[in-house]
Amino acid sequence: MNEPQLNKNSTVAIVGGGQAGGETATLLRQNRFEGRIILIGEEPCLPYMRPPLSKAFLAREITKDALIYKSAAAYEKAGVEMRLGERVEKIDSSSKRLLLDDGASFSYDKLVIATGGRARPLPVLGAGLRNILFLRSIADVEILQPLLVRSRRLVIVGGGYVGLEVAAVAVKHGLKVTVLESASHVLARVTAPALSDFYERVHREAGVDIRTGATVTGFLAGHEEGAVGLVTCANGERFPADFVLIGIGLFPNTELAIEAGLQVDDGIVVDQASRSSNPDIYAIGDCASHAHHGFLHRKIRLESVPNALEQARVVVASITGRPIPAATAPWFWSDQYDLKLQTVGLSEGYEELVIRGNPLASSFTAFYLKTGRIIAADAVNRPGDFMAAKRLVGDRMVIAPSRLADDSTPIKTLMIEAAPA
Ligand code: FAD
Repeated sequence: MNEPQLNKNSTVAIVGGGQAGGETATLLRQNRFEGRIILIGEEPCLPYMRPPLSKAFLAREITKDALIYKSAAAYEKAGVEMRLGERVEKIDSSSKRLLLDDGASFSYDKLVIATGGRARPLPVLGAGLRNILFLRSIADVEILQPLLVRSRRLVIVGGGYVGLEVAAVAVKHGLKVTVLESASHVLARVTAPALSDFYERVHREAGVDIRTGATVTGFLAGHEEGAVGLVTCANGERFPADFVLIGIGLFPNTELAIEAGLQVDDGIVVDQASRSSNPDIYAIGDCASHAHHGFLHRKIRLESVPNALEQARVVVASITGRPIPAATAPWFWSDQYDLKLQTVGLSEGYEELVIRGNPLASSFTAFYLKTGRIIAADAVNRPGDFMAAKRLVGDRMVIAPSRLADDSTPIKTLMIEAAPA
């Protein structure tokens, strides 16, 4: 459904200066929106890429400047008013006004909420001790970096992507690293046991102490007053730590939306056009829960850069009255050691797993099948398989499992043979 056209007297306000918000701002102008564009971002810097925070930036292989992917001049050229280091305190949806923490206020015709999320806290005893840290922003990394250099023991709570990426960087720095994961596998929420086993083996070989089924119950102070020294687990085990990283997921920033009366269910609930339950307010990126048509039959909140950028394109099409771009298969990546994992699709509900290649040689792809169709794939050091998988998953193609597993047949040949579902 197309929106009524806005004009040059209209204002689109964007709350949140992450990749979703930043992309929306300049895309609006590229799509010939002629009115006022205001972006309000709480962090005091231009929108930046978060993925390197737990990878190259944490390892000091790149500088802060390299995280900024679009210069101030680009926003200026697009005529975007950047209000950085300012926080929206309230959305008054009845008068269509935003109230900022410094007392300023703006009216809007259309509002895009792109507030992302914050690291999920671990509500256990001692969680307030010093040196119990999180990783979501540049500021967080700037606290972690000196500790990586001057400390000996790091305990990471959570064996998800962020926790494992930090483990890879820290062990390379010579730290004694322990990962405590309450599930029976690392990456349990996002991947198959075969892939979890692979990553557990790689980390153990690198010297990381991976403990699964380990539920953290609290933190105790060590020699330094007020700072963490010991992590305690439900089974009675205790792990000494000079600092702790909690990497147990994200909590979507939905408070503004709830207060504004929008429907929220985990994320801000939006339709295919990224529109919330209020027709003048949209939500995109990590804070939004949307129906990923064709890939899932329920609402989902995705946390990835490709999703943030895709939703920026959707919301701009929606606001400027253009056709909504078709949804593509969700994808993601993770870098650990010299391993590049690229994943596409959503493996939820898969019935069959086909491994192509050799996990022992760190070069393989796990294909997830449901009713014979390829619904997802995780490619480790296999960019060719990943490119093919994007199409195979996007078109939900059918390839016989025995053919898919046959690594002597090039993936391109299999694609020619593949039948659309
Ligand atoms: P965010 O990036 O969270 O931006 C939201 C912004 O809104 C923040 O700056 C926040 O301060 C601001 N804000 C919130 N409330 C207000 C308010 N009231 N007023 C003003 N501003 C406000 N994705 C991948 O695809 N691949 C990866 O390898 C990968 N690695 C990651 C590694 C780490 C360490 C992290 C933290 C994330 C990673 N991600 C990765 C996820 C990816 O970075 C996010 O999905 C993406 O950044 C989401 O963008 P966003 O704009 O929706 O939200």
